[in-house]
Amino acid sequence: MQRIKKGDTVQVISGNEVGARGEVERVIIAKYVDRFNKVTGNNPNANKVLVRGVNIRKKHQRAVSQTRTQTGIIDKEMPIHISNVMLVCPNCNEAVRVGFKLDGDGKKKRVCKRCQTFID
Ligand SMILES: [Zn+2]
Repeated sequence: MQRIKKGDTVQVISGNEVGARGEVERVIIAKYVDRFNKVTGNNPNANKVLVRGVNIRKKHQRAVSQTRTQTGIIDKEMPIHISNVMLVCPNCNEAVRVGFKLDGDGKKKRVCKRCQTFID
């Protein structure tokens, strides 16, 4: 189960932009590939997240037919390693560690380890 999902607000805890907060636009699940470039499984240690407004780089975007609307030098978010961000709990508004607990229906859900509230 994922600790961080699309749509979550996260805080950066390591790197150049410590303290920055933003919404997760995409969680990138890293894959293991064998020597024939065949996907053999997921590599959770290498997962990354794309956070809106965080880790912006200048990118030189080339025009490709009519599909790309922005070309030239554009600002673009680059993915950061998932271990460099922490979830911001919607209840206590702090960067918190995430645990898992069963709710009333027996479903496993994410829980804030600080205030013990369910997050989903
Ligand atoms: Zn909390």
